[in-house]
Amino acid sequence: MCIVCCMGCHAEFPNWNSRQCMAEYRVDPVPHDAPKPPGYTRFVCISDTHSRTDPIQMPYGDVLIHAGDFTELGLPSEVKKFNEWLGSLPYEYKIVIAGNHELTFDQEFMADLIKQDFYYFPSVSKLKPESYENVQSLLTNCIYLQDSEVTVRGFRIYGSPWQPWFYGWGFNLPRGQALLEKWNLIPDGIDILITHGPPLGFLDWVPKKMQRVGCVELLNTVQRRIQPRLHVFGHIHEGYGVMADGTTTYVNASVCTVNYQPLNPPIVIDLPTPRNT
Ligand code: 5GP
Ligand code: MN
Ligand code: MN
Repeated sequence: MCIVCCMGCHAEFPNWNSRQCMAEYRVDPVPHDAPKPPGYTRFVCISDTHSRTDPIQMPYGDVLIHAGDFTELGLPSEVKKFNEWLGSLPYEYKIVIAGNHELTFDQEFMADLIKQDFYYFPSVSKLKPESYENVQSLLTNCIYLQDSEVTVRGFRIYGSPWQPWFYGWGFNLPRGQALLEKWNLIPDGIDILITHGPPLGFLDWVPKKMQRVGCVELLNTVQRRIQPRLHVFGHIHEGYGVMADGTTTYVNASVCTVNYQPLNPPIVIDLPTPRNT
């Protein structure tokens, strides 16, 4: 076991030539009060706010990115409250994806749920289909991405909510081929990738299980094919922080801790704005 950071670096990682310490890949985020360099775009990254946005101190920036789990259950009332909060924020662009907690955004999940007497989510099972069929339309104050892309300030940004199966929540898929098929939808040339879950080996350590739980298909897609400048995710609350591999900066932007306390500050990343914009 690694004694520098206790992150479990005894594991082998697919793309690494040596068994280097994970601490060497750690990066300090930009302080919130640092001036933005001329010609740069400032991204403010958050995720896993879980309907607990009130105490969050939001820093200055140009583009807000939220990497999913903005609610507890995806109830329309939660989505409306989140949308109102987004409306109160001054960013030029606000880009949001869903996570496994946004149950109502996963239409296949909901179709299965209402067929079953699924006692895990009684308040969601009770919803009338007309209240959630168009739940995305409640997000009027942001750009919502679901296996889709948008270009802002010259950056091509792609967002996807899927993550490895974990207790049958929304947007869960088995590891392997099923997830790879979703990552294969990401076009070449994407500058900023937003997924809900982490790639294997980057900010994906679950201490209570002594396990890395990131997706290896996502790691291969990011490092070998897409090579984005920035990859923003959350989901594994314990993995909050920033890493870099020389090509991509990885941000686990989980605002909530593992105990669902919104204590981790938003993470600020400055990237040079593409010249032709
Ligand atoms: P959430 O329920 O908000 O999606 O995830 C909250 C916590 O559940 C994470 O911080 C992590 O502790 C745990 N968790 C989520 N996905 C996995 C997984 O795939 N494996 C393990 N072991 N824990 C997970
Ligand atoms: Mn979460
Ligand atoms: Mn999650």
